[in-house]
Amino acid sequence: MRLKDWFLSFLHLLFPRLCVVCGEPLVRGEEFLCLSCLMSFPYYRLGHEELERQLNEIMLVEGVYALYVYNRQSPYRYLVHALKYKSRREIGWMLGRMLARRFPADVKFDTVLPVPLHKKKEAKRGFNQSRVIAEGIRQVVDVEIADGALCRVVNNPSQTKVKERSRNVEDIFRLQDESLLRGKHVLLLDDVITSGSTIKSCLRELSRVPDIRVSVACVGRVGHP
Ligand SMILES: [Zn+2]
Repeated sequence: MRLKDWFLSFLHLLFPRLCVVCGEPLVRGEEFLCLSCLMSFPYYRLGHEELERQLNEIMLVEGVYALYVYNRQSPYRYLVHALKYKSRREIGWMLGRMLARRFPADVKFDTVLPVPLHKKKEAKRGFNQSRVIAEGIRQVVDVEIADGALCRVVNNPSQTKVKERSRNVEDIFRLQDESLLRGKHVLLLDDVITSGSTIKSCLRELSRVPDIRVSVACVGRVGHP
């Protein structure tokens, strides 16, 4: 952890009413983000053509949605960090609500499928951050959450890379209960999409479900270089 990250964590511990992004104290009416950070919020505005093309090679994806540009230099990464590493679920709910407000009005999803964590990792963290974001989406739009439809059978992504040559990548996830997805428009949701390899692994399993329609969403999308 870098010194600045450590220092900000320490400040948050002492004064929880600080902007998650810049660390300035919040005033009345501000929640998680100060007005200035909210005004310059880096909404994701680029198209998703290249990712869509890659995903469509696996199965037809109706739409790809992202809330904001996520990168390692941007202080806005603290939003996802606060959710994942400091268990600040209320920030995940806020991100879910912000994402849901950007869905086109004429698009309706039946169920949200948060990308599952391996059960050991979820037990260690105490929650699945994508599931928390899904709860935020549900505060804005009327959808189910498809808990238990898919499970993650490979834990460590670095192990996955090593094993990639010898085992099939689709083995990372396993379809567990297709009745939760069959005949539905499913929003596959991850916290951050970088290369898209996790989403692709999920899609390989989902492509086996009859009559399914799929869209993909994330709060953080790593911007094009
Ligand atoms: Zn701020």
